[in-house]
Amino acid sequence: MSENKGIALVTGGAGGIGAACCRELAKAGYRVGIHYRSSDLSAKKLMEELPGSFLIKADLSTEVGVDHIYEELKALGGIDVLVNNAGMTKDAPLMRAKLADFDQVVSVNMRSTWYLTKRLGRMMARKSAGRIINISSVVGSTGNAGQSVYAMTKAAINSFTKTCSLEFAHYGILVNSIAPGFIETPMTESLPEEEKLKIIERIPLGRMGKPEDIASMVRFLATEGNYCTGNTFHVNGGMYGAL
Ligand code: NAP
Repeated sequence: MSENKGIALVTGGAGGIGAACCRELAKAGYRVGIHYRSSDLSAKKLMEELPGSFLIKADLSTEVGVDHIYEELKALGGIDVLVNNAGMTKDAPLMRAKLADFDQVVSVNMRSTWYLTKRLGRMMARKSAGRIINISSVVGSTGNAGQSVYAMTKAAINSFTKTCSLEFAHYGILVNSIAPGFIETPMTESLPEEEKLKIIERIPLGRMGKPEDIASMVRFLATEGNYCTGNTFHVNGGMYGAL
């Protein structure tokens, strides 16, 4: 670990992309808060691996879960970097999709990001500094058959990022999102092999991304990128680029 840069919280920090972000931010000198909901074992292992890191367990789909995170960070004196990474999907063609699944995906991917950012944004404003990095997805820009809700929530994250960047700029808080393409994590692990091959055919760099490919962009936006705010950065091996 290099110099102490303050506290960085990664939601869903024990998952595929989240754990890579925790490692990268710890290497960059942050004391990392590893948020998790159900991955107790991996979260604990990661905490043991990263000196100075700490755990926060909370269900982000609930108000009390978000409030708990706020209180924990308040007790530690605030937060410098927030990575809104936790997310989920329930895929189905729209005609067969269920309303209950819609509500669940929206509550984790969108509602929790809105509420956590609202609460922690105010905490950062008191310090007149902060970085917020939202993890969206390439499908928020391209759409994806079978992912009507997921893609909708990710597009919303990009729009939310823009609004927050406008509201928070004068507090010295920079807000950006990263839209990963297809990344090798538990979320994509369950895709049938045939579908994975089809996806890879659409990726100019000829491979799925690794969690570290996203984490290095998170690190850039947390530690450098001093003149970047309100952007969506696409990290997808060339399969899509915003013009
Ligand atoms: P992952 O390993 O499944 O990680 C997602 C994390 O979200 C999990 O660790 C989970 O925590 C947390 N989570 C889910 N529901 C939650 C809830 N109700 N409360 C709190 N935490 C909750 O998947 P990943 O691929 O690393 O995904 C990370 C982010 O990248 C997501 O936002 C995803 O949409 C986005 N993304 C992924 C890809 C990809 O190809 N993998 C592509 C584009 C965007 P627990 O395990 O502790 O329950």
